[in-house]
Amino acid sequence: MAENHPANALFRSWFDLRVNEMREPTRYVLACRICHAFLSNPVRAIVTYPQLLEHCENHADGLGIASGWFLTPSLELRKVFVKETGTQLDVPGSFASLGDVSEMVKYTKPRHKLIGCCGINGDDGPTRICICGAVVGTEFSECFQTQRFEPDMKNTEWIRLDTEELVK
Ligand SMILES: [Zn+2]
Ligand SMILES: [Zn+2]
Repeated sequence: MAENHPANALFRSWFDLRVNEMREPTRYVLACRICHAFLSNPVRAIVTYPQLLEHCENHADGLGIASGWFLTPSLELRKVFVKETGTQLDVPGSFASLGDVSEMVKYTKPRHKLIGCCGINGDDGPTRICICGAVVGTEFSECFQTQRFEPDMKNTEWIRLDTEELVK
């Protein structure tokens, strides 16, 4: 009877879509604001404190983040972090895993000329540039540092990907 009504099937497929979205959280990509190039893998946003605990490691010099995730802490998340840990969340704007940065993203100068003993010490300013030449962020990859990528939010933005774009 009621379960055979065509509207039920429609509702069912809409519901299934929502459920799938919940299982497979929305992905984002870091994009250049100047030339709109995609600069990262599709990644998920860390929004809640439990997600932060699960996917980030707290180190003395900053947070390490698991690949597949990025973090742009909201004011609310910063407040929860202070309440739970008694320390400030040491993430200036946004950060991501180095492994998620596209190979298309070049270095500001030849790698061997960048200051550091084995990796890239981002303490001296931005180290990564887009194919269009815009500064897009800073790599921290020295042996004594927490490995991370901090996007320059003036020249980049996290764009929410539609499901269709992910299928392509
Ligand atoms: Zn660009
Ligand atoms: Zn080193």
